[in-house]
Amino acid sequence: MESELNWILLGLPIAFGLGWLASRLDLRQWRMENRQNPRAYFRGLNFLLNEQQDQAIDAFIEAVQNDPDTSELHFALGNLFRRRGEYERAVRVHEHLLARGDISLADRQRAQHALALDYLKAGLIDRAEDALLKLEGTPFEQEARLARLANYERSRDWSQAAQIARQLDQAGQGSFATRLAHYLCEQASAQPEQALALLEQARETAPHAARPRLELARLQLQAGQALSACAILEDALEAAPSALPLLAAPLAEAAMAADRVPVVLPRLQALYRQSPGIDLLQAIVTLHQASAPGAASARDWYIQHLEQEPSLVAASRWIAGERLEHEQFHPLVQRALDHAVGPLLRYRCAACGFEAKQHFWQCPGCQTWDSYPARRVEEL
Ligand SMILES: [Zn+2]
Repeated sequence: MESELNWILLGLPIAFGLGWLASRLDLRQWRMENRQNPRAYFRGLNFLLNEQQDQAIDAFIEAVQNDPDTSELHFALGNLFRRRGEYERAVRVHEHLLARGDISLADRQRAQHALALDYLKAGLIDRAEDALLKLEGTPFEQEARLARLANYERSRDWSQAAQIARQLDQAGQGSFATRLAHYLCEQASAQPEQALALLEQARETAPHAARPRLELARLQLQAGQALSACAILEDALEAAPSALPLLAAPLAEAAMAADRVPVVLPRLQALYRQSPGIDLLQAIVTLHQASAPGAASARDWYIQHLEQEPSLVAASRWIAGERLEHEQFHPLVQRALDHAVGPLLRYRCAACGFEAKQHFWQCPGCQTWDSYPARRVEEL
């Protein structure tokens, strides 16, 4: 009995001692981990600031291993993987965050957003679409809709694009009317049997946009309805005055077909006096020649233009109709002039500088809408 009591009396302090030791060891380890964790974190930060992304990733992986519950470290690591083009690893990090039950709603939405960005950057459009749809009703909703809009445009899914543009318009994210009109025009060119209705809808959606009116007039002209084509373009002169250089040539064509030269010509001349330009000049010359074939006065307009602007395009067009003293060399001179004039007649995207012979509503270089001014390179 006594020896048992002795053992107990002796054992208690030992047990306490062992317990205390164990708790000290735990505490020390815990402290060590916590000291290591910020150290790894700051090391990672330091590497990031020095743009050493590989080393930063290693440091953050160490920090995440020491403290797997911190979501901020996961976000930092996931974003780093994405920036380095390691999309699979970025997806794994963000999916891991989403699978966790202990993160806040805000962090969950952030992880969903980050996952959508991973898929977008990786070019996995279907998965990106699913991830972006899950952001409806979150603070990332508008950004997600804009990203989906860009995807639909890229895949030329104009009806889906139109749906999103309407949502963005209704949400007060600026006016998407002109963009919507472009989508309707794109649909019209893909569905000729519904083109008329779609273009009318586009004109109603964006009354100040030139494209629906221009394409509507082209359709009417092809159908032999020159008078209504001419009326549409005459209206467009007032509705979309900045598109005047683009309207001039088709209006001249429609006016000749509809016998409206006596009405349209003075109108274009008045507009030319307000805002001279190569395309307007050419339309006036064409209409003059149509109303009085063979008369030299039409080409006097080129000279009038040259008095105001040192335009190589106008000079070349004037010379083309002149009889030179050494006329046998005219074709050679004309060829050289036409060669020099070619680049001056191009259109140039104001956003990226991409040049093209034809005017684009959406730049093939940078995908920006309405970035091509209506005027030619020589006039910029
Ligand atoms: Zn561009």
